[in-house]
Amino acid sequence: MRMRAQGDIRRCSIHAHPEYLPPTSRKIECATFMGEKTRIKWTDKTWNPWIGCTKISEGCAHCYAEKNIAAVRRRGGKVLWGPGMPRARTKGWDQVRRWNRTAQKKGTLIKVFPSLCDVFDSDPEQEKTLDGWRQDLFDLIKETPALSWLLLTKRPEVAALPRWAEQIAQFGPKVWLGTSVENQKTADRRLPILVEQIPSKNKFVSAEPLLGAVDLSPWLADVKWVIVGGESKKNARRMELDWARSIRKQCASAGVKFFFKQVGGSDAKNGGNLLDGEAIEEEPDSLTR
Ligand code: SF4
Repeated sequence: MRMRAQGDIRRCSIHAHPEYLPPTSRKIECATFMGEKTRIKWTDKTWNPWIGCTKISEGCAHCYAEKNIAAVRRRGGKVLWGPGMPRARTKGWDQVRRWNRTAQKKGTLIKVFPSLCDVFDSDPEQEKTLDGWRQDLFDLIKETPALSWLLLTKRPEVAALPRWAEQIAQFGPKVWLGTSVENQKTADRRLPILVEQIPSKNKFVSAEPLLGAVDLSPWLADVKWVIVGGESKKNARRMELDWARSIRKQCASAGVKFFFKQVGGSDAKNGGNLLDGEAIEEEPDSLTR
């Protein structure tokens, strides 16, 4: 599908409606906010069942997803962030089925990560809507066994609710449940729920943006993958490299794969993806085979 450029709002060449293209995605299909190619190096594709969320902890302060759609809101689009604010349901669900068929033909797995929402978002004023969309997502996951789904949340307590946990238990190893942590406080709160209450066969942790030293070792026996990254762009909060080095050591001791995403920083020159001169991009074999 070709898109005609018009600033950062482009017009879908098939359906002719205007769509915003996040600057980090090279190819997006209409109203899908899906990335055929993505700069998030630990996934193959990004795709979102809906867009929007509510900030719940320090790690959310400069939410990547919210910034990515800021141009839409500046032009009077819907406010998608905050309690009671309507989330936006996306189109393009068939594209995900096509990725699944492609993966089946090639005999490989394709990693898919919803990047502009929290798939376990909860909001008392729109609980029914979010539950309905989440069920649609779960049904799509069941239909697409050749995709490795990376479901990352800051709300593991929602994933642990019986109506979701019972389905997660049936998903099998291609669905990865992950929790974001930014410091020890959020690790202590979220990781016990991830490892003890969510019956996913594969679990991962994203420590990005990493805002403090974290000891993950109490939970690493139940986790297969840890991603670490510093915050980037304007007003980025600094990640001490020693915090990342420490997590790397913890992972090595526990036999857990470690992926160093980025140093971060407000100036691209400060960033890069090297830790002590090395690109460390380990991932579990079972993510792609
Ligand atoms: S939970 Fe994630 S998507 Fe939601 S506001 Fe926080 S950082 Fe953004």
